[in-house]
Amino acid sequence: MNTDIQSILNKLGVKESNAAFSTGSNWGGESNQEILKSFSPVDGKLIAIAKVAAVADYEDIIAKAQSAFKEWRVIPAPKRGEIVRQFGDALRENKDALGTLVSYEMGKSLQEGLGEVQEMIDICDFAVGLSRQLYGLTMHSERPSHRMYEQWHPLGIVGIISAFNFPVAVWSWNAALALICGNVCIWKPSEKTPLTAVACQHIISKVFKANDVAEGVCNLIIGDKAVGELMTNDGRIPLISATGSTRMGKAVGAAVGARLGKSLLELGGNNAIIISEHADLDMSLIGAVFGAVGTAGQRCTSTRRLIIHESVYDAFKEKLIKAYDQLRIGDPLDQNNHVGPLIDTDAVAAYLDSIQKCKAEGGKFVVEGSVLTGEHYSSGCYVKPCIAEVKNDFKIVQHETFAPILYLIKYKTLDEAIALQNGVPQGLSSAIMTLNLREAEQFLSAKGSDCGIANVNIGTSGAEIGGAFGGEKETGGGRESGSDAWRAYMRRQTNTINYSNTLPLAQGIKFDL
Ligand code: NAD
Repeated sequence: MNTDIQSILNKLGVKESNAAFSTGSNWGGESNQEILKSFSPVDGKLIAIAKVAAVADYEDIIAKAQSAFKEWRVIPAPKRGEIVRQFGDALRENKDALGTLVSYEMGKSLQEGLGEVQEMIDICDFAVGLSRQLYGLTMHSERPSHRMYEQWHPLGIVGIISAFNFPVAVWSWNAALALICGNVCIWKPSEKTPLTAVACQHIISKVFKANDVAEGVCNLIIGDKAVGELMTNDGRIPLISATGSTRMGKAVGAAVGARLGKSLLELGGNNAIIISEHADLDMSLIGAVFGAVGTAGQRCTSTRRLIIHESVYDAFKEKLIKAYDQLRIGDPLDQNNHVGPLIDTDAVAAYLDSIQKCKAEGGKFVVEGSVLTGEHYSSGCYVKPCIAEVKNDFKIVQHETFAPILYLIKYKTLDEAIALQNGVPQGLSSAIMTLNLREAEQFLSAKGSDCGIANVNIGTSGAEIGGAFGGEKETGGGRESGSDAWRAYMRRQTNTINYSNTLPLAQGIKFDL
């Protein structure tokens, strides 16, 4: 592995990393000496040391953001959109460098790293158009000579807490929409991927500076859970958009709820594909394998369960075993490899623990898992994707393990398959592979999938930015990205204007003085 990290960082303009900084500013306020280290899971090298934000840094960022909001909120939305358009162009210019850095710091394949930056570009384009479409409704008033309508205003500071597995795209999904809506942002990235976040902050800062935008519209704050907790407990941040595990979401939801703030939660999934007797099995194979091993099983939408009709179960299992045999595991920057490393050795331990628990509950592995060793796997983070035959109600199957472990479950009827698919605490993504219209429509109907995303003849992972993204139940209920997800970043105001000479009351109530 010979990634020339220094030349990538030079290209991105990243020189040093500090705790917190705002668009337009140099490195931020005073910091204590606490640091966090970022190791590449690709080769185990230490690639960044970042200072953790102290309370003083945090307060400095909040003050900058509050002051910037006063200016940013009155800039017309299409003009804010124009600045986001320029940010999209800057991402186009930096796509190769940033995509490579994502791949190196997080461990996903280069194709997926570049794809993640493409998603950022796409959401910028979407947000530019949206900046002219922040529509409110008009209503007919029941009172004469009255006009009634609703309009949408920005909220203020949007706090963005993100996970390691999409270290840059999730921020941009939130930031691009929040910005065109007139909000300012404070981003706390995952403590496992601070370097890509610093690189993004450099890219957006340049654009903001070139447009003379007030310092503090887009802010980055480095730290772990403790910094996240400062944000979730802070009444000065009206909206917290948090992406991560269900455990984190429960804590964030409770903290923000206790102060009656708004939260947008994007949490864990436990996604299944139903492979029907009417499925195109070759197509299903690609969907299933990419869904299960892509990003080494570390997508919130990764395929964790295959629910397979009994008549095609054995044939499909054989196809899977053959396909897994051909997987090349190794350096994700080498485009010949299919599967890269897990994020760190803790994730490897969780993978091993889940395999053990699955076996203890009676799971039968048809493709065994193991940790890879040797020269090419020196980081200790490379594992073999594995497959087990299980029952849906195994405790371990009900739990999201963020690793390439695929569970096979057999079914007889579609009703049973849908019940199995829905029979987990999470509700993010789901899919059915079938060429039968009745089956497809039943799966998509109100008695079908209970997930936020339900696909036909597409796997569970790989959503487009145009649709609203998110899931139900323990996935948190939030929606980001496309459709009308922008409304979460704004407050609705209903306005009634009386242009008559009297003051009639609603519901015909009489009140004469
Ligand atoms: P994580 O929950 O460990 O951490 C996510 C972020 O939350 C980090 O920035 C972390 O510092 C912060 N955090 C943790 N506890 C906190 C607390 N109590 N208060 C405030 N902040 C806190 O998750 P991870 O390991 O980085 O990411 C993997 C998880 O994220 C998986 O469960 C995956 O399914 C989920 N995920 C969901 C989506 C989605 O859109 N639904 C997208 C990506 C990842």
